[in-house]
Amino acid sequence: MATVTLHPGKERPVVHHHPWVFSGAIARIQGPFPERGEVVDVQAASGEWLARGCWSDGSQIRIRLFTWNPNEPLDDALIRRRIERAIDGRRRLGMLTEDGACRLVYAESDGIPGLIVDHYAGFLAVQLLTQSMAQRSAAITRILAETLAPRGIYERSDAEVRDREGLPPASGALWGATPPERVRVRFPGDLWLPVDLCSGQKTGAYLDQAFNRLRVAAYCAGAEMLDCFCYTGGFTIAAARSGARRATAVDTSETALNMLRDGLTLNAITMPVETVAADVFQLLRRYREEQRRFDVIVLDPPKFAHSQAQVERATRGYKDINLLAIQLLRPGGILATFSCSGLVSSDLFQKIVFGAALDARREVQIIERLAQSPDHPVLLTFPEGEYLKGLICRVW
Ligand code: SAH
Repeated sequence: MATVTLHPGKERPVVHHHPWVFSGAIARIQGPFPERGEVVDVQAASGEWLARGCWSDGSQIRIRLFTWNPNEPLDDALIRRRIERAIDGRRRLGMLTEDGACRLVYAESDGIPGLIVDHYAGFLAVQLLTQSMAQRSAAITRILAETLAPRGIYERSDAEVRDREGLPPASGALWGATPPERVRVRFPGDLWLPVDLCSGQKTGAYLDQAFNRLRVAAYCAGAEMLDCFCYTGGFTIAAARSGARRATAVDTSETALNMLRDGLTLNAITMPVETVAADVFQLLRRYREEQRRFDVIVLDPPKFAHSQAQVERATRGYKDINLLAIQLLRPGGILATFSCSGLVSSDLFQKIVFGAALDARREVQIIERLAQSPDHPVLLTFPEGEYLKGLICRVW
């Protein structure tokens, strides 16, 4: 096994159990030059042993660390222990139920960099996002099959981060039955959503918003709501259940809107829902010209900032939609606004909404702050795991 020595002064994050070693921190390598995905030891410039992880030759993140215990081998048994612990955590949250959905393994935050496992009513969707996890695909599949006895395990390693890792996209059945095109899944609040594990966005659903949909729905009784970036309509369905009067749901994806209509039937919803296949930026402008007004507006856009270089442009995008949404709200209306860009901090996000309120000349109160659901825990040593933030605001 190779030993990687860090430049002087670069050991601090490693000592603090941050799981990433960047290429710039590496001074030299002793022993055979590591193959992609291989296990390496990491030591300080002083020669002190620090940690053990997996090498990657694709990403700027050269090593992902798995253990800080010199006596713990980085083998399948370690992966098994971590997977079992992660599953136990979700069980204790009450989120691992037969017909429910949750994120069972959240990569670095569960001590397994590069591995995501989501559960949907007996089916598992797996993302292997690093070279080392891709190589361990068979072992991971076996561990999951033995631990959970699922109906089927399906790979969805088609995320863009695979590209940065120098891996081609990969998807397909790994074990057991292939999930049907629509798996009926029960979400918090007894909301049912049809989920397409094989070709839906992410691994089929936005699990991170599961509880936030209920928080927003609490303000929807009697309301006319506008669900922007609705995907399969989680917020719309939750609002309908809470007695909303009517909803307009907007997304560019026709496939998503079709799923939304299936969801309305699945939940026996009679509230009128207008589905609009359109670009939210353009549609909000049109509604402003038409002087349309709403009582509740949800803004749940996709990630706008994928790198530090994109933060400024992302900031303008968030400001734009938030300004438009504020202008479309009746006095006393509710804006539920989200950002899932990890690179946009909660502080910055609040400043963006502040800027939008100022430009709209409306008074805006924050009444709730929201975050990703508890099955997406944030490890204290890896704050990067925190990405979703939301504000529920009263707009006067
Ligand atoms: N609110 C959803 C998740 C939204 S994910 C839920 O609770 O499940 C973001 C969605 O925005 C995706 O469905 C994507 O198709 C859509 N989208 C991306 N860019 C868009 C645009 N410019 N206008 C409208 N929809 C867009």
